[in-house]
Amino acid sequence: MAAAKKTKPSAAKGPAEKIYDSFIVGAGISGIAAAIKLKKEGYNNFKIIERADRVGGTWRENTYPGCGCDVPSSLYSYSFALSSKWSHLFAKQPEILSYLEEVSDNFDITPLIEFNTNLQSATWDESRYLWVLGTSNGEHLARTVVFATGPITESKTPVLPGLESFSGEMFHSAKWNHDYDLTGKRVAVIGTGASAIQFVPQIQPKVKELFVFQRTAPWVLPKPDLPLGDRVKQTIEVLPVIQRGWRNAVSRSLNVINFGLRNPKVLRPISTAAKQLLRLQISDKALRKAVTPDFTLGCKRVLFANDYYPALQADNTHLIPHGLVEVDGNTVVAANGERHEVDVIIWGTGFEVSHPPIGSKVVNANGDRLSDLWKDTSPEAYLGAALENTPNAFLVLGPNVLVYDSFIGLAEAQLDYIIDGLKKVKDNDIGKISIRSDVLRQHNAKVQKHLKGTVFNSGGCKSYYLDQNGRNFAAWPWSLAELKRRLSVFDLDDYDVTYRNEAVLSKVS
Ligand SMILES: Cc1cc2nc3c(=O)[nH]c(=O)nc-3n(C[C@H](O)[C@H](O)[C@H](O)COP(=O)(O)OP(=O)(O)OC[C@H]3O[C@@H](n4cnc5c(N)ncnc54)[C@H](O)[C@@H]3O)c2cc1C
Repeated sequence: MAAAKKTKPSAAKGPAEKIYDSFIVGAGISGIAAAIKLKKEGYNNFKIIERADRVGGTWRENTYPGCGCDVPSSLYSYSFALSSKWSHLFAKQPEILSYLEEVSDNFDITPLIEFNTNLQSATWDESRYLWVLGTSNGEHLARTVVFATGPITESKTPVLPGLESFSGEMFHSAKWNHDYDLTGKRVAVIGTGASAIQFVPQIQPKVKELFVFQRTAPWVLPKPDLPLGDRVKQTIEVLPVIQRGWRNAVSRSLNVINFGLRNPKVLRPISTAAKQLLRLQISDKALRKAVTPDFTLGCKRVLFANDYYPALQADNTHLIPHGLVEVDGNTVVAANGERHEVDVIIWGTGFEVSHPPIGSKVVNANGDRLSDLWKDTSPEAYLGAALENTPNAFLVLGPNVLVYDSFIGLAEAQLDYIIDGLKKVKDNDIGKISIRSDVLRQHNAKVQKHLKGTVFNSGGCKSYYLDQNGRNFAAWPWSLAELKRRLSVFDLDDYDVTYRNEAVLSKVS
Protein backbone atom coordinates (compact mmCIF):
# COMPACT_ATOMS: atom_id res chain seq x y z
CA MET A 1 0.00 0.00 0.00
CA ALA A 2 1.22 3.52 -0.83
CA ALA A 3 1.78 5.96 2.05
CA ALA A 4 -1.30 7.91 3.14
CA LYS A 5 -1.61 11.46 1.90
CA LYS A 6 -2.71 13.85 4.61
CA THR A 7 -4.37 17.15 3.91
CA LYS A 8 -5.55 19.39 6.70
CA PRO A 9 -9.23 20.26 6.95
CA SER A 10 -9.73 23.91 6.18
CA ALA A 11 -13.39 24.47 6.97
CA ALA A 12 -14.68 27.30 9.08
CA LYS A 13 -16.57 26.12 12.16
CA GLY A 14 -20.00 27.48 12.97
CA PRO A 15 -22.91 28.68 10.80
CA ALA A 16 -22.12 29.20 7.12
CA GLU A 17 -22.44 32.43 5.20
CA LYS A 18 -20.88 31.64 1.87
CA ILE A 19 -23.20 29.93 -0.60
CA TYR A 20 -21.62 27.38 -2.93
CA ASP A 21 -23.10 26.72 -6.36
CA SER A 22 -22.45 23.07 -5.77
CA PHE A 23 -21.23 20.74 -3.04
CA ILE A 24 -19.70 17.34 -3.76
CA VAL A 25 -19.66 14.70 -1.04
CA GLY A 26 -17.03 11.96 -1.49
CA ALA A 27 -13.73 11.76 -3.33
CA GLY A 28 -13.80 8.31 -4.84
CA ILE A 29 -14.00 7.70 -8.56
CA SER A 30 -17.31 9.57 -8.82
CA GLY A 31 -16.44 12.59 -6.66
CA ILE A 32 -13.10 13.15 -8.39
CA ALA A 33 -14.78 12.98 -11.80
CA ALA A 34 -17.57 15.32 -10.64
CA ALA A 35 -15.00 17.92 -9.57
CA ILE A 36 -13.00 17.57 -12.79
CA LYS A 37 -16.10 17.93 -14.92
CA LEU A 38 -17.40 20.92 -12.93
CA LYS A 39 -14.02 22.64 -13.28
CA LYS A 40 -14.04 21.93 -17.00
CA GLU A 41 -17.41 23.69 -17.23
CA GLY A 42 -15.86 26.77 -15.64
CA TYR A 43 -17.25 26.27 -12.14
CA ASN A 44 -15.03 27.54 -9.36
CA ASN A 45 -17.60 28.13 -6.63
CA PHE A 46 -17.95 24.53 -5.49
CA LYS A 47 -16.72 22.51 -2.56
CA ILE A 48 -15.72 18.87 -2.27
CA ILE A 49 -15.40 17.00 1.03
CA GLU A 50 -14.11 13.53 1.87
CA ARG A 51 -14.38 11.83 5.25
CA ALA A 52 -11.07 9.97 4.86
CA ASP A 53 -7.59 11.43 4.58
CA ARG A 54 -7.00 10.58 0.94
CA VAL A 55 -8.94 10.05 -2.29
CA GLY A 56 -9.85 6.65 -3.73
CA GLY A 57 -13.03 5.44 -2.01
CA THR A 58 -13.39 1.70 -2.71
CA TRP A 59 -9.74 1.44 -3.73
CA ARG A 60 -8.53 3.13 -0.56
CA GLU A 61 -10.70 0.99 1.73
CA ASN A 62 -10.28 -2.47 0.19
CA THR A 63 -6.67 -3.56 0.66
CA TYR A 64 -7.12 -7.31 1.03
CA PRO A 65 -4.48 -9.52 -0.63
CA GLY A 66 -5.19 -9.94 -4.33
CA CYS A 67 -7.72 -7.07 -4.44
CA GLY A 68 -8.11 -5.91 -8.01
CA CYS A 69 -10.36 -5.04 -10.84
CA ASP A 70 -12.47 -7.53 -12.77
CA VAL A 71 -12.91 -5.17 -15.70
CA PRO A 72 -9.84 -4.57 -17.91
CA SER A 73 -8.07 -1.38 -16.86
CA SER A 74 -8.25 0.07 -20.35
CA LEU A 75 -11.98 0.39 -19.59
CA TYR A 76 -11.78 0.76 -15.81
CA SER A 77 -10.19 4.20 -16.18
CA TYR A 78 -11.55 7.66 -16.97
CA SER A 79 -12.29 8.42 -20.62
CA PHE A 80 -10.39 11.70 -20.15
CA ALA A 81 -7.37 10.14 -18.43
CA LEU A 82 -6.31 6.93 -20.11
CA SER A 83 -3.16 5.47 -18.63
CA SER A 84 -0.23 3.70 -20.22
CA LYS A 85 1.12 2.58 -16.87
CA TRP A 86 -1.02 -0.46 -16.04
CA SER A 87 1.21 -3.41 -15.22
CA HIS A 88 -1.49 -5.94 -16.14
CA LEU A 89 -4.59 -6.00 -18.30
CA PHE A 90 -6.54 -6.10 -15.02
CA ALA A 91 -4.97 -3.75 -12.47
CA LYS A 92 -4.65 -4.49 -8.79
CA GLN A 93 -5.84 -2.20 -5.98
CA PRO A 94 -2.53 -0.39 -5.24
CA GLU A 95 -2.22 0.61 -8.89
CA ILE A 96 -5.83 1.76 -9.14
CA LEU A 97 -5.42 3.83 -5.98
CA SER A 98 -2.20 5.42 -7.34
CA TYR A 99 -3.98 6.12 -10.62
CA LEU A 100 -6.84 7.90 -8.85
CA GLU A 101 -4.40 9.96 -6.77
CA GLU A 102 -2.47 10.86 -9.90
CA VAL A 103 -5.59 11.92 -11.80
CA SER A 104 -6.79 13.94 -8.81
CA ASP A 105 -3.37 15.66 -8.62
CA ASN A 106 -2.98 16.19 -12.36
CA PHE A 107 -6.38 17.84 -12.67
CA ASP A 108 -5.65 20.00 -9.58
CA ILE A 109 -8.54 18.50 -7.62
CA THR A 110 -6.58 17.28 -4.57
CA PRO A 111 -5.93 20.80 -3.20
CA LEU A 112 -9.67 21.53 -3.45
CA ILE A 113 -10.70 18.54 -1.35
CA GLU A 114 -11.40 19.06 2.31
CA PHE A 115 -10.25 15.74 3.77
CA ASN A 116 -11.17 14.28 7.16
CA THR A 117 -14.58 15.89 6.81
CA ASN A 118 -17.63 13.75 7.29
CA LEU A 119 -21.02 14.85 6.03
CA GLN A 120 -23.27 14.42 9.06
CA SER A 121 -26.48 15.99 7.79
CA ALA A 122 -27.90 17.44 4.61
CA THR A 123 -31.18 19.32 5.08
CA TRP A 124 -33.13 21.09 2.37
CA ASP A 125 -34.12 24.61 3.42
CA GLU A 126 -37.26 25.41 1.43
CA SER A 127 -37.33 29.05 2.52
CA ARG A 128 -33.94 29.78 0.94
CA TYR A 129 -33.78 27.04 -1.71
CA LEU A 130 -30.52 25.88 -0.22
CA TRP A 131 -28.99 22.73 1.16
CA VAL A 132 -27.69 23.13 4.70
CA LEU A 133 -24.78 20.73 5.03
CA GLY A 134 -23.63 19.84 8.51
CA THR A 135 -20.13 18.41 8.49
CA SER A 136 -17.66 17.35 11.17
CA ASN A 137 -15.87 20.63 10.38
CA GLY A 138 -18.74 23.08 10.36
CA GLU A 139 -21.80 24.00 8.35
CA HIS A 140 -22.01 24.88 4.66
CA LEU A 141 -24.69 26.20 2.35
CA ALA A 142 -25.06 25.13 -1.26
CA ARG A 143 -27.58 25.54 -4.04
CA THR A 144 -26.98 22.02 -5.34
CA VAL A 145 -25.44 18.81 -4.02
CA VAL A 146 -23.83 15.79 -5.65
CA PHE A 147 -23.77 12.76 -3.38
CA ALA A 148 -20.79 10.78 -4.70
CA THR A 149 -20.77 8.66 -1.56
CA GLY A 150 -20.47 5.27 -3.20
CA PRO A 151 -22.66 2.26 -4.02
CA ILE A 152 -20.55 -0.43 -2.27
CA THR A 153 -19.19 0.97 0.96
CA GLU A 154 -20.96 -0.60 3.93
CA SER A 155 -19.40 -3.97 4.77
CA LYS A 156 -21.88 -6.61 5.92
CA THR A 157 -21.30 -9.30 8.54
CA PRO A 158 -23.93 -11.76 9.72
CA VAL A 159 -25.33 -11.84 13.23
CA LEU A 160 -24.89 -15.42 14.42
CA PRO A 161 -25.51 -17.27 17.65
CA GLY A 162 -22.36 -17.58 19.73
CA LEU A 163 -20.30 -15.05 17.78
CA GLU A 164 -19.51 -13.17 20.98
CA SER A 165 -17.90 -16.34 22.36
CA PHE A 166 -15.22 -16.34 19.65
CA SER A 167 -11.88 -15.37 21.13
CA GLY A 168 -9.84 -15.53 17.91
CA GLU A 169 -9.30 -12.79 15.34
CA MET A 170 -12.13 -11.62 13.04
CA PHE A 171 -12.20 -9.11 10.23
CA HIS A 172 -14.09 -8.27 7.05
CA SER A 173 -12.30 -8.34 3.70
CA ALA A 174 -12.96 -4.59 3.33
CA LYS A 175 -11.19 -3.95 6.65
CA TRP A 176 -8.30 -6.34 6.28
CA ASN A 177 -6.13 -6.59 9.38
CA HIS A 178 -2.64 -6.41 7.88
CA ASP A 179 -1.12 -6.58 11.37
CA TYR A 180 -2.47 -10.08 11.87
CA ASP A 181 -0.12 -12.73 10.49
CA LEU A 182 -2.09 -15.60 8.98
CA THR A 183 0.98 -17.84 8.69
CA GLY A 184 0.29 -21.26 10.15
CA LYS A 185 -3.21 -20.31 11.29
CA ARG A 186 -6.51 -22.19 10.95
CA VAL A 187 -8.71 -19.86 8.96
CA ALA A 188 -12.44 -19.80 8.21
CA VAL A 189 -13.41 -17.75 5.15
CA ILE A 190 -17.11 -17.03 5.07
CA GLY A 191 -18.48 -16.43 1.60
CA THR A 192 -17.33 -17.06 -1.96
CA GLY A 193 -18.12 -13.76 -3.64
CA ALA A 194 -16.00 -11.34 -5.65
CA SER A 195 -13.61 -10.46 -2.81
CA ALA A 196 -13.19 -14.00 -1.42
CA ILE A 197 -12.25 -15.49 -4.77
CA GLN A 198 -9.47 -12.91 -4.97
CA PHE A 199 -8.02 -13.31 -1.46
CA VAL A 200 -8.48 -17.10 -0.96
CA PRO A 201 -5.68 -18.00 -3.45
CA GLN A 202 -3.41 -15.40 -1.81
CA ILE A 203 -3.75 -16.69 1.75
CA GLN A 204 -4.07 -20.42 1.05
CA PRO A 205 -0.31 -21.12 0.69
CA LYS A 206 0.55 -19.57 4.05
CA VAL A 207 -2.23 -20.78 6.34
CA LYS A 208 -2.28 -24.14 8.12
CA GLU A 209 -5.87 -24.99 7.28
CA LEU A 210 -8.43 -23.08 5.24
CA PHE A 211 -12.16 -23.68 5.66
CA VAL A 212 -14.11 -21.98 2.88
CA PHE A 213 -17.82 -21.68 3.67
CA GLN A 214 -19.83 -21.50 0.47
CA ARG A 215 -23.59 -20.92 0.57
CA THR A 216 -23.95 -20.58 -3.19
CA ALA A 217 -21.36 -21.67 -5.75
CA PRO A 218 -20.54 -18.71 -8.01
CA TRP A 219 -19.79 -18.86 -11.72
CA VAL A 220 -16.03 -18.39 -11.99
CA LEU A 221 -14.66 -17.92 -15.50
CA PRO A 222 -10.99 -17.76 -16.51
CA LYS A 223 -9.54 -14.26 -16.23
CA PRO A 224 -7.87 -13.23 -19.47
CA ASP A 225 -5.19 -11.34 -17.58
CA LEU A 226 -1.65 -10.71 -18.84
CA PRO A 227 1.28 -8.66 -17.66
CA LEU A 228 2.01 -5.55 -19.72
CA GLY A 229 5.76 -5.20 -20.18
CA ASP A 230 7.73 -1.99 -20.58
CA ARG A 231 7.72 -2.21 -24.35
CA VAL A 232 3.91 -2.48 -24.46
CA LYS A 233 3.58 0.45 -22.02
CA GLN A 234 5.97 2.60 -24.09
CA THR A 235 4.06 1.77 -27.26
CA ILE A 236 0.74 2.70 -25.64
CA GLU A 237 2.25 5.93 -24.35
CA VAL A 238 3.46 6.94 -27.81
CA LEU A 239 0.36 5.65 -29.56
CA PRO A 240 -2.63 6.25 -27.27
CA VAL A 241 -4.84 5.18 -30.17
CA ILE A 242 -3.91 1.58 -29.23
CA GLN A 243 -5.26 2.10 -25.72
CA ARG A 244 -8.43 3.67 -27.11
CA GLY A 245 -8.86 0.82 -29.60
CA TRP A 246 -8.39 -1.76 -26.83
CA ARG A 247 -10.86 0.15 -24.65
CA ASN A 248 -13.44 0.10 -27.45
CA ALA A 249 -12.88 -3.60 -28.08
CA VAL A 250 -13.40 -4.41 -24.36
CA SER A 251 -16.47 -2.24 -24.32
CA ARG A 252 -17.91 -4.06 -27.34
CA SER A 253 -17.29 -7.47 -25.80
CA LEU A 254 -19.00 -6.39 -22.57
CA ASN A 255 -21.94 -5.22 -24.69
CA VAL A 256 -22.26 -8.78 -25.97
CA ILE A 257 -22.29 -10.09 -22.38
CA ASN A 258 -24.91 -7.49 -21.49
CA PHE A 259 -27.04 -8.61 -24.40
CA GLY A 260 -26.82 -12.15 -23.02
CA LEU A 261 -27.83 -11.01 -19.54
CA ARG A 262 -30.98 -9.50 -21.02
CA ASN A 263 -31.56 -12.58 -23.19
CA PRO A 264 -30.42 -15.52 -21.02
CA LYS A 265 -30.71 -18.14 -23.80
CA VAL A 266 -27.76 -16.46 -25.53
CA LEU A 267 -25.55 -17.30 -22.55
CA ARG A 268 -26.29 -21.03 -22.63
CA PRO A 269 -23.25 -21.95 -24.78
CA ILE A 270 -21.02 -19.97 -22.40
CA SER A 271 -22.35 -21.81 -19.35
CA THR A 272 -21.90 -25.15 -21.14
CA ALA A 273 -18.30 -24.20 -21.97
CA ALA A 274 -17.78 -23.02 -18.37
CA LYS A 275 -18.99 -26.38 -17.02
CA GLN A 276 -16.67 -28.25 -19.40
CA LEU A 277 -13.82 -26.08 -18.22
CA LEU A 278 -14.71 -26.91 -14.63
CA ARG A 279 -14.30 -30.59 -15.53
CA LEU A 280 -10.78 -29.86 -16.76
CA GLN A 281 -9.92 -27.66 -13.79
CA ILE A 282 -11.26 -29.85 -10.96
CA SER A 283 -10.58 -33.56 -10.96
CA ASP A 284 -12.24 -34.38 -7.61
CA LYS A 285 -15.84 -35.19 -8.53
CA ALA A 286 -17.32 -34.27 -5.15
CA LEU A 287 -15.56 -30.91 -5.11
CA ARG A 288 -16.55 -30.26 -8.71
CA LYS A 289 -20.18 -30.98 -7.89
CA ALA A 290 -20.00 -28.69 -4.87
CA VAL A 291 -18.63 -25.75 -6.89
CA THR A 292 -20.95 -26.18 -9.85
CA PRO A 293 -23.43 -23.30 -9.83
CA ASP A 294 -27.12 -24.17 -9.72
CA PHE A 295 -28.39 -20.93 -11.24
CA THR A 296 -28.18 -19.33 -14.67
CA LEU A 297 -24.88 -17.69 -15.53
CA GLY A 298 -25.13 -13.94 -14.99
CA CYS A 299 -27.86 -14.02 -12.34
CA LYS A 300 -25.17 -13.04 -9.84
CA ARG A 301 -22.13 -11.06 -10.93
CA VAL A 302 -19.89 -13.37 -13.01
CA LEU A 303 -16.47 -13.74 -11.39
CA PHE A 304 -13.12 -14.11 -13.11
CA ALA A 305 -10.10 -15.92 -11.65
CA ASN A 306 -7.42 -18.38 -12.70
CA ASP A 307 -6.13 -19.26 -9.25
CA TYR A 308 -9.34 -19.81 -7.26
CA TYR A 309 -10.10 -23.43 -8.21
CA PRO A 310 -6.44 -24.49 -7.76
CA ALA A 311 -6.53 -22.94 -4.27
CA LEU A 312 -9.70 -24.90 -3.43
CA GLN A 313 -7.95 -28.12 -4.44
CA ALA A 314 -4.91 -27.54 -2.24
CA ASP A 315 -4.39 -30.12 0.52
CA ASN A 316 -4.91 -27.58 3.30
CA THR A 317 -8.23 -26.26 1.89
CA HIS A 318 -11.63 -27.68 2.82
CA LEU A 319 -14.62 -26.38 0.90
CA ILE A 320 -17.74 -26.51 3.04
CA PRO A 321 -20.70 -26.14 0.71
CA HIS A 322 -22.90 -24.69 3.45
CA GLY A 323 -23.35 -21.43 5.27
CA LEU A 324 -21.92 -20.70 8.69
CA VAL A 325 -24.77 -20.87 11.18
CA GLU A 326 -23.17 -20.74 14.60
CA VAL A 327 -19.96 -20.07 16.45
CA ASP A 328 -19.26 -22.00 19.62
CA GLY A 329 -16.13 -20.69 21.32
CA ASN A 330 -13.44 -21.10 18.69
CA THR A 331 -15.48 -23.65 16.75
CA VAL A 332 -17.30 -22.63 13.59
CA VAL A 333 -20.45 -24.62 12.84
CA ALA A 334 -21.77 -25.11 9.30
CA ALA A 335 -25.44 -25.56 8.36
CA ASN A 336 -24.83 -29.32 7.89
CA GLY A 337 -23.53 -29.57 11.47
CA GLU A 338 -19.85 -29.80 10.46
CA ARG A 339 -17.62 -28.24 13.16
CA HIS A 340 -14.08 -26.90 12.88
CA GLU A 341 -11.85 -25.16 15.36
CA VAL A 342 -10.24 -22.03 13.88
CA ASP A 343 -7.97 -19.15 14.92
CA VAL A 344 -9.47 -16.53 12.65
CA ILE A 345 -12.69 -15.78 10.80
CA ILE A 346 -12.48 -13.66 7.64
CA TRP A 347 -15.81 -12.31 6.50
CA GLY A 348 -16.09 -12.35 2.73
CA THR A 349 -19.75 -11.56 3.17
CA GLY A 350 -19.97 -8.52 0.94
CA PHE A 351 -21.69 -5.21 1.40
CA GLU A 352 -25.04 -3.67 2.27
CA VAL A 353 -25.95 -2.18 -1.08
CA SER A 354 -29.72 -1.95 -1.21
CA HIS A 355 -29.86 1.03 1.17
CA PRO A 356 -27.21 3.68 0.42
CA PRO A 357 -25.80 4.83 3.80
CA ILE A 358 -26.11 8.47 2.71
CA GLY A 359 -29.88 8.08 3.23
CA SER A 360 -29.46 8.40 6.99
CA LYS A 361 -27.94 11.88 6.56
CA VAL A 362 -30.37 13.47 4.12
CA VAL A 363 -33.63 15.23 5.07
CA ASN A 364 -35.71 16.02 2.00
CA ALA A 365 -38.13 18.85 1.17
CA ASN A 366 -40.95 17.10 3.06
CA GLY A 367 -38.81 16.91 6.16
CA ASP A 368 -38.41 13.15 5.75
CA ARG A 369 -35.12 11.40 6.40
CA LEU A 370 -34.40 9.26 3.33
CA SER A 371 -33.42 6.22 5.37
CA ASP A 372 -36.84 6.33 7.05
CA LEU A 373 -38.52 6.37 3.64
CA TRP A 374 -36.34 3.42 2.56
CA LYS A 375 -37.00 1.38 5.71
CA ASP A 376 -39.32 -1.14 4.10
CA THR A 377 -38.00 -1.00 0.55
CA SER A 378 -34.94 -0.01 -1.42
CA PRO A 379 -34.80 3.46 -3.00
CA GLU A 380 -36.04 4.46 -6.44
CA ALA A 381 -34.51 7.23 -8.50
CA TYR A 382 -34.76 8.71 -11.97
CA LEU A 383 -31.84 7.41 -14.04
CA GLY A 384 -30.16 6.45 -10.78
CA ALA A 385 -29.60 10.11 -9.97
CA ALA A 386 -32.70 12.13 -9.02
CA LEU A 387 -34.69 11.26 -5.89
CA GLU A 388 -38.29 12.22 -5.23
CA ASN A 389 -38.88 15.38 -3.15
CA THR A 390 -35.15 15.86 -2.89
CA PRO A 391 -34.58 19.05 -4.89
CA ASN A 392 -31.30 20.24 -6.35
CA ALA A 393 -29.56 17.03 -5.32
CA PHE A 394 -28.20 14.13 -7.30
CA LEU A 395 -26.86 10.72 -6.41
CA VAL A 396 -24.07 9.11 -8.44
CA LEU A 397 -24.38 5.35 -9.06
CA GLY A 398 -27.81 5.28 -7.43
CA PRO A 399 -30.53 2.67 -8.07
CA ASN A 400 -31.08 0.75 -11.33
CA VAL A 401 -28.17 1.89 -13.46
CA LEU A 402 -26.00 -1.19 -13.09
CA VAL A 403 -24.86 -2.59 -16.43
CA TYR A 404 -22.14 -5.21 -16.72
CA ASP A 405 -19.41 -2.71 -17.53
CA SER A 406 -16.96 -0.40 -15.80
CA PHE A 407 -18.50 1.59 -12.95
CA ILE A 408 -16.24 4.43 -14.06
CA GLY A 409 -18.02 4.59 -17.40
CA LEU A 410 -21.41 4.51 -15.65
CA ALA A 411 -20.39 7.26 -13.22
CA GLU A 412 -19.06 9.41 -16.05
CA ALA A 413 -22.28 9.02 -18.05
CA GLN A 414 -24.35 9.95 -15.01
CA LEU A 415 -22.13 12.89 -14.20
CA ASP A 416 -22.51 14.26 -17.72
CA TYR A 417 -26.27 14.23 -17.07
CA ILE A 418 -25.98 15.67 -13.57
CA ILE A 419 -23.62 18.45 -14.61
CA ASP A 420 -25.82 19.33 -17.55
CA GLY A 421 -28.58 19.72 -14.92
CA LEU A 422 -26.43 21.81 -12.60
CA LYS A 423 -25.53 24.10 -15.50
CA LYS A 424 -29.19 24.50 -16.41
CA VAL A 425 -29.96 25.39 -12.79
CA LYS A 426 -27.22 28.02 -12.77
CA ASP A 427 -27.68 29.43 -16.27
CA ASN A 428 -31.48 29.74 -15.94
CA ASP A 429 -31.40 31.08 -12.40
CA ILE A 430 -33.48 28.15 -11.20
CA GLY A 431 -34.21 28.16 -7.47
CA LYS A 432 -35.57 24.66 -7.14
CA ILE A 433 -35.65 21.64 -9.40
CA SER A 434 -37.22 18.34 -8.44
CA ILE A 435 -37.93 15.21 -10.45
CA ARG A 436 -41.65 15.01 -11.34
CA SER A 437 -43.44 12.22 -9.47
CA ASP A 438 -45.22 10.99 -12.60
CA VAL A 439 -41.95 10.83 -14.56
CA LEU A 440 -40.29 8.91 -11.75
CA ARG A 441 -43.20 6.46 -11.39
CA GLN A 442 -43.47 5.77 -15.13
CA HIS A 443 -39.73 5.34 -15.47
CA ASN A 444 -39.48 2.86 -12.61
CA ALA A 445 -42.56 0.92 -13.66
CA LYS A 446 -40.92 0.41 -17.07
CA VAL A 447 -37.59 -0.52 -15.49
CA GLN A 448 -39.23 -3.17 -13.30
CA LYS A 449 -41.33 -4.51 -16.18
CA HIS A 450 -38.29 -4.97 -18.41
CA LEU A 451 -36.18 -6.47 -15.64
CA LYS A 452 -38.60 -9.39 -15.41
CA GLY A 453 -37.15 -11.12 -18.48
CA THR A 454 -33.53 -10.56 -17.54
CA VAL A 455 -31.29 -13.16 -15.97
CA PHE A 456 -31.02 -11.03 -12.80
CA ASN A 457 -34.68 -11.61 -11.98
CA SER A 458 -35.32 -14.97 -13.60
CA GLY A 459 -31.98 -16.77 -13.28
CA GLY A 460 -32.85 -18.66 -10.10
CA CYS A 461 -30.51 -16.96 -7.66
CA LYS A 462 -30.75 -14.55 -4.74
CA SER A 463 -28.27 -11.87 -5.68
CA TYR A 464 -27.38 -8.53 -4.15
CA TYR A 465 -29.34 -6.90 -6.98
CA LEU A 466 -32.55 -7.84 -5.13
CA ASP A 467 -33.74 -6.10 -1.98
CA GLN A 468 -35.45 -7.71 1.00
CA ASN A 469 -38.72 -7.81 -0.97
CA GLY A 470 -37.16 -9.39 -4.04
CA ARG A 471 -37.34 -6.12 -5.99
CA ASN A 472 -34.38 -5.51 -8.27
CA PHE A 473 -33.08 -2.12 -7.16
CA ALA A 474 -29.74 -2.35 -8.94
CA ALA A 475 -29.82 -3.38 -12.57
CA TRP A 476 -30.61 -1.39 -15.69
CA PRO A 477 -32.69 -3.60 -17.99
CA TRP A 478 -31.55 -2.19 -21.31
CA SER A 479 -28.20 -1.68 -23.04
CA LEU A 480 -25.42 0.60 -21.90
CA ALA A 481 -25.90 2.57 -25.13
CA GLU A 482 -29.52 3.16 -24.12
CA LEU A 483 -28.47 4.28 -20.63
CA LYS A 484 -25.96 6.67 -22.14
CA ARG A 485 -28.55 7.95 -24.60
CA ARG A 486 -31.00 8.63 -21.78
CA LEU A 487 -28.29 10.34 -19.78
CA SER A 488 -27.02 12.45 -22.68
CA VAL A 489 -29.44 15.32 -22.10
CA PHE A 490 -30.88 16.69 -18.89
CA ASP A 491 -34.46 17.46 -19.93
CA LEU A 492 -35.96 20.19 -17.78
CA ASP A 493 -39.43 18.94 -18.78
CA ASP A 494 -38.86 15.89 -16.57
CA TYR A 495 -38.60 18.17 -13.55
CA ASP A 496 -40.79 20.52 -11.54
CA VAL A 497 -38.90 23.77 -11.89
CA THR A 498 -39.21 26.99 -9.88
CA TYR A 499 -37.23 29.93 -11.18
CA ARG A 500 -35.64 32.23 -8.63
CA ASN A 501 -37.38 35.43 -9.80
CA GLU A 502 -40.69 33.52 -10.00
CA ALA A 503 -40.20 32.42 -6.39
CA VAL A 504 -39.45 35.95 -5.28
CA LEU A 505 -42.52 37.26 -7.17
CA SER A 506 -44.80 34.68 -5.63
CA LYS A 507 -43.45 35.51 -2.18
CA VAL A 508 -44.14 39.22 -2.79
CA SER A 509 -47.68 38.81 -4.21
C1 LIG B 1 -13.70 -4.90 -3.59
C2 LIG B 1 -14.40 -4.17 -4.70
C3 LIG B 1 -14.03 -4.43 -6.01
C4 LIG B 1 -14.67 -3.75 -7.04
N1 LIG B 1 -14.30 -4.04 -8.32
C5 LIG B 1 -14.90 -3.40 -9.34
C6 LIG B 1 -14.53 -3.69 -10.69
O1 LIG B 1 -13.69 -4.53 -10.94
N2 LIG B 1 -15.17 -3.02 -11.67
C7 LIG B 1 -16.13 -2.09 -11.41
O2 LIG B 1 -16.67 -1.49 -12.34
N3 LIG B 1 -16.48 -1.80 -10.15
C8 LIG B 1 -15.91 -2.43 -9.12
N4 LIG B 1 -16.30 -2.15 -7.83
C9 LIG B 1 -17.34 -1.16 -7.59
C10 LIG B 1 -16.71 0.16 -7.09
O3 LIG B 1 -17.32 0.48 -5.89
C11 LIG B 1 -16.89 1.25 -8.11
O4 LIG B 1 -16.23 0.82 -9.29
C12 LIG B 1 -16.31 2.61 -7.76
O5 LIG B 1 -15.12 2.51 -7.04
C13 LIG B 1 -17.32 3.48 -7.01
O6 LIG B 1 -16.75 4.75 -6.88
P1 LIG B 1 -17.53 5.90 -6.09
O7 LIG B 1 -16.65 7.09 -6.09
O8 LIG B 1 -18.89 6.07 -6.66
O9 LIG B 1 -17.73 5.33 -4.63
P2 LIG B 1 -16.63 5.01 -3.54
O10 LIG B 1 -15.42 4.49 -4.16
O11 LIG B 1 -17.29 4.19 -2.50
O12 LIG B 1 -16.28 6.44 -2.93
C14 LIG B 1 -17.19 7.15 -2.12
C15 LIG B 1 -16.41 8.13 -1.27
O13 LIG B 1 -17.33 8.92 -0.52
C16 LIG B 1 -16.83 9.06 0.79
N5 LIG B 1 -17.97 9.29 1.69
C17 LIG B 1 -19.02 8.46 1.90
N6 LIG B 1 -19.85 8.99 2.82
C18 LIG B 1 -19.33 10.18 3.18
C19 LIG B 1 -19.73 11.19 4.10
N7 LIG B 1 -20.84 11.05 4.84
N8 LIG B 1 -18.96 12.30 4.22
C20 LIG B 1 -17.83 12.44 3.48
N9 LIG B 1 -17.39 11.50 2.60
C21 LIG B 1 -18.14 10.39 2.45
C22 LIG B 1 -16.12 7.75 1.08
O14 LIG B 1 -15.17 7.88 2.11
C23 LIG B 1 -15.49 7.45 -0.28
O15 LIG B 1 -14.19 7.96 -0.38
C24 LIG B 1 -15.69 -2.81 -6.77
C25 LIG B 1 -16.07 -2.59 -5.45
C26 LIG B 1 -15.44 -3.26 -4.42
C27 LIG B 1 -15.88 -3.00 -3.00
